[in-house]
Amino acid sequence: MRNTEQKSVILEVLQTHKDHPTADQLYSEVRERLPKISLGTVYRNLEKLSSSGVIMKLELGGNQKRFDPNPMDHYHFRCITCSSIEDLPQDLKVDLPDINSETRSNRVILGTTLEYYGYCEECAANKILN
Ligand SMILES: [Zn+2]
Ligand SMILES: [Zn+2]
Repeated sequence: MRNTEQKSVILEVLQTHKDHPTADQLYSEVRERLPKISLGTVYRNLEKLSSSGVIMKLELGGNQKRFDPNPMDHYHFRCITCSSIEDLPQDLKVDLPDINSETRSNRVILGTTLEYYGYCEECAANKILN
């Protein structure tokens, strides 16, 4: 099994997802195609893909890292009940606080994460019914 093959299968599986899966979720699906792959290999490849900017690693309020096949800047909504993570519309523009040069001195700022959270459509509907 070639490493590049493993990496492309992992990427292909991730690209079928819109729900920002965890490495564990991806592992069980990748294993259907590559039965001998280990969880460690899946993790390592996900780290590589995200550090090279092909995918995005989400370290949001949940416990587990989640992965996103879309590396472009976009915002997420996390449901605090079912832990689902949805994309918010791509054209959403948020004005972030301006960081002046004094605050910035001696620091290297690479980016920012912004997370919206609450109840997803399904959980909100359940809350109203119950
Ligand atoms: Zn929910
Ligand atoms: Zn996303």
